[in-house]
Amino acid sequence: MAQFVDKVRITVQAGHGGNGCMSFRREKYVAAGGPDGGDGGHGGSVVLRVDTGMTTLMDFRYKRKYTAQPGGNGQGSNMKGKNGEDLIIKVPLGTVVRDEETGDVIHDMSDETDYVLAKGGRGGWGNQHFATPTRQAPRFAKAGLPGECHDVVLELKLLADVGLVGFPNVGKSTLLSVVSAARPKIANYHFTTLVPNLGVVYLGEGESFVMADIPGIIEGASQGVGLGHDFLRHIDRCRLVVHIVDAAGSEGRDPVEDFITINEELSQYSPDLAARPMIAVANKLDILQDPENLTRLREYTESLGIPLYEMSAATHRGTDELMRVVYDRLRELPPITVYEPEYVRPLPEAGSVEDLTIREEDGVWLVDAPWMERLIADINFDDYESRMYFDRQLRKCGLFERLEELGIEKGDTVSIYDIEFDYEP
Ligand code: GDP
Ligand code: MG
Repeated sequence: MAQFVDKVRITVQAGHGGNGCMSFRREKYVAAGGPDGGDGGHGGSVVLRVDTGMTTLMDFRYKRKYTAQPGGNGQGSNMKGKNGEDLIIKVPLGTVVRDEETGDVIHDMSDETDYVLAKGGRGGWGNQHFATPTRQAPRFAKAGLPGECHDVVLELKLLADVGLVGFPNVGKSTLLSVVSAARPKIANYHFTTLVPNLGVVYLGEGESFVMADIPGIIEGASQGVGLGHDFLRHIDRCRLVVHIVDAAGSEGRDPVEDFITINEELSQYSPDLAARPMIAVANKLDILQDPENLTRLREYTESLGIPLYEMSAATHRGTDELMRVVYDRLRELPPITVYEPEYVRPLPEAGSVEDLTIREEDGVWLVDAPWMERLIADINFDDYESRMYFDRQLRKCGLFERLEELGIEKGDTVSIYDIEFDYEP
């Protein structure tokens, strides 16, 4: 059976920054010109973008790793390397991004704003950048920084105001096709709906809402039997549940039993969803043979405080009236839930001073190490707290003691990737 995909694990890798270039101008009749090594280009970022035409994460099924372009290396004549292109990943509206390890929400793609999931590495500076009046011929340039890398889980939680629930074949897809432009598959066959269908219901000027038809849930769905369980996730954030019942019992089941069974499934899956405001709808009244069925169903739902509406989706009887009732009800309800970010990026720790390579050139102390590269890539130098954190990490690893041992003097320059500062003991 076709498996519907609404939860995937992917790895995103932003592009590495290009390296800075070390070069000197060659001019006619001039033995050695000034430094003219250009900077490396920035690495491309991995960006998530909403595609409103998508309603599944099917496209992610076979591709797990997403890598943005690296930045180009800088060149002579002050030529900057090309910036790496961003990698745009299209996702359905309502995709919730979580950190794979902690499960914390990183971002909710709940509107059409792009989200930078992994930032490209900064390009390294070319030697022209390091020229100062006292240092006219810097013979060094900097390597680019690595791009961010992240293992994440994408999970689809559609942004629908209304979630249709009910046994298979009760007429959910038929209703959606009658009241919206959505064209879900309709057939007398369980699980015809393998992907959720979203329809926009327009009532009039400025009056509309989004309704989702999810595949039928059946007994045992909340324990993951059959397909049902996964599908319930899609209506996790709907504001109103419309529970459709085949009041004619056209498949030989009892309508009241159906209603009870589906409600039990809902509460087993999520008490929160089961507590959501609900409207009950008796469908297939055009073929209702025993009016007693309808009476019993009404008595039962109303005893729970759930109003029951009547319709025949096939003949369109009562469908417009139902949509008006739904719309009026929605106006009283709180807006759709948007998941707040919970994820806090762990700050990288300083590594060992043993792993550092330090060399001195004209009073400039060049410090390199893979761990240092990562630390710098993750620090936001525009932010005071982050700069202080960086400073603490440098002290913690014993960098300054080591520089003292090697003979650094006050006023010398410490140069770590694209960071430079004067040494103050
Ligand atoms: P879903 O599984 O709940 O989405 O059900 P569908 O909308 O696919 O409908 C299942 C079958 O019931 C189809 O053959 C529909 O034509 C039929 N059906 C839906 N609504 C009505 C109705 O009001 N009256 C009658 N007689 N048949 C209906
Ligand atoms: Mg259907």
